[in-house]
Amino acid sequence: MRIHHLNCISSCPVGGRLMDGISPSVLQRGHLTCHCLLIETAESLVLVDTGYGLKDVADPHGRLSEFFLTQLKPDFREEMTAIRQIERMGFDPRDVRHILLSHLDFDHAGGLDDFPWAQVHMLRAEEINATLQKTWLDRQRFRPQQWSTRKNWNLHDPGEGYNWFGFDKVQAIEGLPPEILMVPLIGHMLGHAGVAIQRDSGSWLFYAADAYFYHGEMDSERPHCTPGLELYQTMMEKNRKSRLWNQKRLRELSIERSSEVDVFCAHDVIEFERHAHRSADSEVPRVKNPMRLEHHTGIQLSPWSEDRPPI
Ligand SMILES: [Zn+2]
Repeated sequence: MRIHHLNCISSCPVGGRLMDGISPSVLQRGHLTCHCLLIETAESLVLVDTGYGLKDVADPHGRLSEFFLTQLKPDFREEMTAIRQIERMGFDPRDVRHILLSHLDFDHAGGLDDFPWAQVHMLRAEEINATLQKTWLDRQRFRPQQWSTRKNWNLHDPGEGYNWFGFDKVQAIEGLPPEILMVPLIGHMLGHAGVAIQRDSGSWLFYAADAYFYHGEMDSERPHCTPGLELYQTMMEKNRKSRLWNQKRLRELSIERSSEVDVFCAHDVIEFERHAHRSADSEVPRVKNPMRLEHHTGIQLSPWSEDRPPI
């Protein structure tokens, strides 16, 4: 299976260096990625998280909350949406038949609408809690405007599951290869999950999504986070105890099993560039021999996607 790393629209948060630790000053805007994955399996393309989508770019104020737009100032460029990057790489977006969603925050779920033919997988607890919209902050972060594909959502109960490197209730997803696993990582949200993918070499990539935000949190000697991201994570957490416990487990995994498991999160630029081998805001390159499915019976690109033919 080939695995591709996509940054589906960067955020430029207030606080600059206080957030990302790398911007020159606190007065400049910072730089955070929306790290997504595209996996080529024998049967289809699988997208892991979707970042912001075409409709978010076209109508940010209708889709997203002013609170987060002001805080994060996403760099809305259509060419950075998952669907446009997938086209640019030489794939047919209709071959994306499955989407694994870590959680329903606006910066992960925005691209769902661009793939109305895909089956979407998430933990049931995520759908339940995001739908409740209990608090003011819930209503800012969970945006039903992004949920037109709800009929395609497959909600997974962790149930028994099995144990993977000490993480339990891990799920293989029906219809997907057994090398792709959903790993519950509760804390940031009540149904938050990471995704583990076994590479052809046998080692694993482990996308921890928003279980942590800054590469320094995985540091073996001196785990640390920027003050801005520490504050942001605290503001967004749904279960502090579970969040910190999972962060500790991820740190131990990334240190003790570093040759077997490569752990990374959604919003860290340094981690993105280490995996993608290109700058986070550069154009995605074309892929050699992109996989193509032959039949697209009944699958039409959505009106949004048809605005422009594939690149
Ligand atoms: Zn996020």
